Amino acid sequence: MNFNTNFNDIENNYLFAEVALRVKAYSEKNPDKKVLKLGIGDVTLPLVPAVIDALHKAVDEMSKQESFKGYGPYEGYDFLRTEILNYYNNFGVKLDLDEIFVSDGAKSDLGNILDIFSKDNVVLVPDPVYPVYVDTNLMAGRKIIYANATSDNGFLPMPDYSVNADIIYICSPNNPTGASYTKVQLKQWVDYANAKNAIILYDAAYECFIEDSNLARSVFEIKGAETCAIEFCSLSKIAGFTGTRCGYTVIPHALERDNLNANKTWLRRQSTKFNGVPYIVQKGAAAVFSKQGMQQIKQNLAYYKHNAKIISDCLDDCGVWYTGGKNSPYVWFKCPDGMSSWQFFDYLLENCQVVGTPGSGFGKNGEGFFRLTAFGSEEVTKEAATRLKKLLKR
Ligand code: PLP
Repeated sequence: MNFNTNFNDIENNYLFAEVALRVKAYSEKNPDKKVLKLGIGDVTLPLVPAVIDALHKAVDEMSKQESFKGYGPYEGYDFLRTEILNYYNNFGVKLDLDEIFVSDGAKSDLGNILDIFSKDNVVLVPDPVYPVYVDTNLMAGRKIIYANATSDNGFLPMPDYSVNADIIYICSPNNPTGASYTKVQLKQWVDYANAKNAIILYDAAYECFIEDSNLARSVFEIKGAETCAIEFCSLSKIAGFTGTRCGYTVIPHALERDNLNANKTWLRRQSTKFNGVPYIVQKGAAAVFSKQGMQQIKQNLAYYKHNAKIISDCLDDCGVWYTGGKNSPYVWFKCPDGMSSWQFFDYLLENCQVVGTPGSGFGKNGEGFFRLTAFGSEEVTKEAATRLKKLLKR
């Protein structure tokens, strides 16, 4: 018996576990100090009433013989896929129902999709980035190369034709940097992928934060993306489904390589390894896209966007350079006085009891940077901004 020794190549210490350890140690030593957490990217507002009503109704349906549901379709119920299809129509993207696959969240599908790709593919990942892209490929033993995201390119690396990549990850709006590609910039990535016969795995988990019409809500707003892109999206951030679990993956019919059709191959994979998202959860998810659901969700999003503005206004006041804050729930900024990310983490914790996420946890180019999130409560965010301002001005 042999384990998959690729696991030896993955960092042992998970970023947020280390953050939690340091905060715990500090709080035990300083029980009188109130620690304000703007670190983890989890939402804090509860599910909206329209979703809760739909969940209750679906639970009742399961109690009656005539409306009970057993195994559902692998690719999700049509009532939810139709809502998702209409949602895409709102930003001018026309999809077929069977290009949409309902998932239990973007993270699972971002990892699972690798089943349909050869181990030999060269993977291009931006640095810094959401660690899941790197770790899932390392587990499979794939070669990873990095596209440098730095303050020089606004943390938005552009394609380099001297680099040959097969699988390209793009996350926009980005976690952790909050930076978002314009449609014009994304077109360059789409052209590069088509020229190289590569595939873009496009993570749109934060699309709901986009307000600027120059930015893309979906990669499929870009001409040519249907022959080179797969999109992953999630109800986690738009509707607070981080604990309820639902997302979707869009695979165009036109995406084909080596006589294999990506859409059909994925359905084959899903029907073997996945038995669908619970009917109850899909009913709750469909309510997200209802008129009433969308109205209620807009209020929640406005709440988080306001928090992002509180943080970015604070950094503007202190003259600190940052990305994100607009069109994104993340604010990403340079640590002052040349501090490393972890030095600044400790400095903030010690001196104003604000917890953020060290940028170095997202890749080597994240060193010297720091991430704050807008997903806290307004009260905590305001207090944290006041403390931060005092400290940074000093
Ligand atoms: N993609 C990005 C960029 C994320 O930051 C996250 C979660 O924070 C996810 C995907 C995971 O989404 P889900 O909750 O749908 O699995």
